[in-house]
Amino acid sequence: MKGFAMKKIGEIGWVEKEVPQLGSKDALVRPTAISPCTSDVHTVWAGAIGDRKDMILGHEAVGIVEAVGSEVRDFAPGDRVVVPAITPDWNSLEAQAGYSMHSGGMLAGWKFSNFKDGVFAEYFHVNDADGNMAHLPDTIDDATAVMLCDMVPTGFHGVELADVQFGDKVLVIGIGPVGLMSVAAAALRGASEIYAVGSRPNCIEIAKEYGATHIINYRNGSIEDQVMALTNGKGVDRVVIAGGDVDTMITAIKVVKPGGKIGNVNYLGEGDYVKVPRSEWGCGMAHKQIAGGLMPGGRLRMEKLMSLIETKRIDPSKLITHRFEGFEHVEDALLLMKDKPKDLIKPVVFIK
Ligand code: NDP
Ligand code: ZN
Repeated sequence: MKGFAMKKIGEIGWVEKEVPQLGSKDALVRPTAISPCTSDVHTVWAGAIGDRKDMILGHEAVGIVEAVGSEVRDFAPGDRVVVPAITPDWNSLEAQAGYSMHSGGMLAGWKFSNFKDGVFAEYFHVNDADGNMAHLPDTIDDATAVMLCDMVPTGFHGVELADVQFGDKVLVIGIGPVGLMSVAAAALRGASEIYAVGSRPNCIEIAKEYGATHIINYRNGSIEDQVMALTNGKGVDRVVIAGGDVDTMITAIKVVKPGGKIGNVNYLGEGDYVKVPRSEWGCGMAHKQIAGGLMPGGRLRMEKLMSLIETKRIDPSKLITHRFEGFEHVEDALLLMKDKPKDLIKPVVFIK
């Protein structure tokens, strides 16, 4: 089969590989829509997970089940499915402890285009298929569904980590596709005010549609000054970090109120330390909590997030700005994600 791969750090291209073999609990899926992620860009061009040779990229796909192992109960060839980016081993101790994304070791629930070939291929392999795939209803189209693989669950996880409560003032730093889903999730959770940080005009537009009440352009001055001006110097109750760099945490700690919570889903690619400003952290006594996490995967989560689309509580299709017909365009889509032109939020590639 053909796949689109990371050949080594900084180099991409097509590869020929054997169709993956199935264990008894596994499934083989033929993708019908795929989307590249900022994480694919980090993987290839920042060497984020170290070097890989001819590893097929991608972790966002919906498709049709081609084959299943003998012990798979709930799925059969021909079923239309969504597969989350994170596919844990559900019988691991980490999963039993509530942290399935770390099954087998820290971050090891992230298997696609990390420990095994990803989804930018004619076929891809899904471990623990009954736990890691969800049936897609006819009411949800492929493009919308592919946003469920990573953008919706990650953006929502930022809001879970920040533990947004009714009436909270919430700062969302970064409004790419992930942060935009955090804005939507904060609105669903009952935030009273949502301050969204970004600069791309179309992201700003969509942020407002998803519920942002104020826009902060980080290119026009410090985020801290702008937040403090908007909140009469009081700061915010919660911060979700979905963009920026390793020093964005310093800003978050400065602007969150005592007792506030910070949820980070941003990938921190550079810098040896995440710094905590001593005095704004109350000399260690401010009850300002910090959590950072990889998105949870799993069938139940997919089904629940899907139900929010079916009942029209969220519409992730607004994230899709570029559509390509044909597998051969996966490279174009990935390069768009790398170059981030101003009109881009998320591209989708449809495969016949
Ligand atoms: P994008 O690059 O599309 O968006 C990043 C956002 O951050 C943009 O709004 C950008 O603004 C803003 N930004 C950039 N620099 C700064 C800065 N210095 N200060 C404040 N804001 C800034 O990324 P995605 O939405 O695709 O992904 C966000 C992050 O989430 C990535 O790091 C990705 O790897 C990570 N991720 C994490 C996952 C997880 O499970 N935890 C899963 C998937 C992704 P502008 O409008 O100017 O572009
Ligand atoms: Zn991703």
